[in-house]
Amino acid sequence: MSLKTLITGAAVAASLATVATVGAADTAAVPANPLLVPWSGPYGGVPAFDKAKVEYLKPGLEAGMAEALAEIDRIAANPEAPTFENTLAAMERGGRMLDRVITVYGIYSSTLNDEAVQAVEREMAPKLAAFSDQITQNEALFKRIAAVYETRETSGLTPEQQRLAWLQYTNFVRAGARLDAQAKQQLSVINQRLAGLYTKFGQNVLADENDQQLVIETEADLAGLPGTVRAGAAQVAESRGQKGRWVIANTRSSVEPFLTYSDRRELREKVWRMFVNRGDNGGATDNNAIITEILQLRAERAKLLGYETHAHWRLENSMAKNPARAMELMEAVWTPAVARVHEEVADMQAIADKEGAGIRIEPWDYRYYAEKVRKARYDLDETEITPYLQLENLREGMFYMAQQVFGLHFKPVDPAKVPVYHPDVRVWEVNDPKGNLVGLWYFDPYARKGKRSGAWMNAYRPQERFDGDVKTIVSNNSNFVKGSPGEPVLISWKDAETLFHEFGHALHGLSSNVNYPSLAGTRVARDYVEFPSQLLEHWLSTPEILDRYALHYQTGKPIPQSLVDKIRNADRFNQGFDTVEYLSSALIDMKLHLAGAQPIDPDKFERETLAALGMPSEIVMRHRTPQFNHVFSGDGYSAGYYSYLWSDTLTADAWEAFTEAGGPWDKTVAKRLRDHVFSVGNTLDPADGYRAFRGRDAGIAALMRKRGFPVPPAAAPAAAKSK
Ligand SMILES: [Zn+2]
Repeated sequence: MSLKTLITGAAVAASLATVATVGAADTAAVPANPLLVPWSGPYGGVPAFDKAKVEYLKPGLEAGMAEALAEIDRIAANPEAPTFENTLAAMERGGRMLDRVITVYGIYSSTLNDEAVQAVEREMAPKLAAFSDQITQNEALFKRIAAVYETRETSGLTPEQQRLAWLQYTNFVRAGARLDAQAKQQLSVINQRLAGLYTKFGQNVLADENDQQLVIETEADLAGLPGTVRAGAAQVAESRGQKGRWVIANTRSSVEPFLTYSDRRELREKVWRMFVNRGDNGGATDNNAIITEILQLRAERAKLLGYETHAHWRLENSMAKNPARAMELMEAVWTPAVARVHEEVADMQAIADKEGAGIRIEPWDYRYYAEKVRKARYDLDETEITPYLQLENLREGMFYMAQQVFGLHFKPVDPAKVPVYHPDVRVWEVNDPKGNLVGLWYFDPYARKGKRSGAWMNAYRPQERFDGDVKTIVSNNSNFVKGSPGEPVLISWKDAETLFHEFGHALHGLSSNVNYPSLAGTRVARDYVEFPSQLLEHWLSTPEILDRYALHYQTGKPIPQSLVDKIRNADRFNQGFDTVEYLSSALIDMKLHLAGAQPIDPDKFERETLAALGMPSEIVMRHRTPQFNHVFSGDGYSAGYYSYLWSDTLTADAWEAFTEAGGPWDKTVAKRLRDHVFSVGNTLDPADGYRAFRGRDAGIAALMRKRGFPVPPAAAPAAAKSK
């Protein structure tokens, strides 16, 4: 997710990237704030994290916004007739000071979040929303953009310039540029209120993640946990002033291994309840009332903008184009996935019965008994794999992959040369085969207090070339539990896939080869952006990566072929669970945003909708509504969580392009992938890019094969067809 999307809402994401020029006079007006000065140092300048402080954020954002608005006014008031150059290119050139401050602000928000940062967020989020509206509601500016857009095919613009004109024009229209003054005013009030609610929502989830934990006092309560999980829990305890005990933090990376291995059923239930009730505990951090208000405001806004629902508004410029097509895909996968869950539960129940457990499988048992089924059926024990999955080796494996498939070479940067915002962060420079600089990659792997959970990529600086060659800076962030000093960090197979996934986003950013920053790298449609990242996950299980990089942390020996075979055999194992866990969240998201303006009680809506869908009682949504940050801490993935499935239809189909040819390392397919997908950013319609890569549209068949579900007859929904 890009920071700009996070902060401003996707509707105007591109417009923020594109405002105002840095005037020397303006910069000089606030000389004391280091966030305002252009980045200096090597690699075309790097963020001055060594000088950044929370107290610079607010004045920095204010100065950046003021300068951007002044520049917008200059562009809008230009007496010359509107041209691409004096309007859209001028907007692309501008807003650089604000871009820089927002980059640092986003990093503080997501990875260094404390009370001081939260106070800035609460104050600045509505102001940033108002700022966005001020730009999209600038009538003189919109007239110029519209003029450039309307003459785009006859004024000698390149295809990329025409695409930018289309994007800016539609973004402005979708953000209300054509409304009358009163409606614009109403819209702006809604946007500011929403921005405040999004901030509060995210802060509430973070508070429950930070403040709740399971403290384990005795070794007996660790029963079943492998050594690495115990060591991680001891480490967390120590970092929270509980040395000698063990702490299961209320984050996914701590909770999931516990639920997978702990023999103590009552503790599993406790941890499970703690995790699935984030944001749903009553009191100051409860998100239910916030959700109700967000949904109502979104419905109101959609009406104001002339759309049937928020979902219709959100999907208009996506690859799916409308909610019906997204629903069609989700429903096609839902039924076979639920059927598979019932089979999985039956297998688990049989094991529990055989062991004489005397239980019925509950949601806090799923991961635990699934692990037993895996052992029984595939002779595969996750704890056998983990010793081979050393974080740093896998990182080297990703670099190898990047070199082979993308021609990108990674080289560590001398820490003295590039400042970082936390000692855990490391930086690599990335070069092409000729040794030319491509960009920088920042890596922030470990969980800590104040860092939001999950894993993500962002671009500190997008690639661009229209006005001088600017190299991109991207980062990958995750929440691995840091081991004891000097000990290798061992991760699960799932986490290894996530590592490759986020690296896919990074490669998407690094491969960018476009002219205009608003079209660069990962700034593509939401339901397309997960395709490059999901595709990357597939290289993890290739023999070339496993033989070289999956080395046992004690013996240094590569993972044995027999174990690799077992991993491959178990490839489709638990797909019922994975799919239903995800898809239930995606369906709730879409249905919440198709429900219109009726007041919604989130708990009731969730309960009744899941019942109507036939949600298996043994599974809970991957993100229950009160903690669904994707959907409620910003507009970004609202009515958009389906995107992962949409993208996966492309992913599965694209992977078959490799397997049908020479395999994962096939140079010809790799070149097509770079040329038509990874390097083009948003310079063309993603459906066209995909077709150029694959020679045809993607259907649903490869997706179903990938997940081990029955492939429907040929007439089934051609999921990812765009036109
Ligand atoms: Zn992703």
